[in-house]
Order: sequence, then structure tokens, then C-alpha cells
Amino acid sequence: MYYCNACDEPVLIRHVGGAARCPACDHVDPTIGASGSGRARDVGAQIEFGRWLRKNLSPVVDTTSRSPSEVADTVAAWARDRTAV
Ligand SMILES: [Zn+2]
Repeated sequence: MYYCNACDEPVLIRHVGGAARCPACDHVDPTIGASGSGRARDVGAQIEFGRWLRKNLSPVVDTTSRSPSEVADTVAAWARDRTAV
């Protein structure tokens, strides 16, 4: 397992489109598991959408430090608020 060295909190690096990328900050680590030159360019639009989504999505529910039960409660409360008349 590899962790992002750009984030303050420990975030597991994921492999997306042949690049090792941090899902929290989009940092790409070229030293981890990169395979094939230019493959990372194939996901440019997807990465850009991810950045836009994180910037514009509200509310953001932190799933990295909270238990699944706490996350479910938060999402359920949000859904109740949204559907309340
Ligand atoms: Zn990061």
C-alpha cells in the first residue's frame, strides 16, 4: 500500500488509468506503478470532473475517518432534510 505524500492525512494511493493517483488531491506519484507512457492522459477529462465535483459538491461527507454507521447516519439525515416538506 502507498500513501499520498502531498496530503496531510494518510490517503491511500489508487491506480487510475495506469497512473498512481491520490483520490483526495489528485496528486500523481510517477514513482509508483506507472505503466506505459501517456496512459495518464487518457483520464484527463475524468480527473478534471473529479476536481470540479469536489469543488462544487455539497455537503461533503468525510468517509475517511468516520465509521460506516456514522457516514450512513449523516447521509440519511441529509436525505431526510432534502425530502422534508
Ligand atoms: Zn493527496
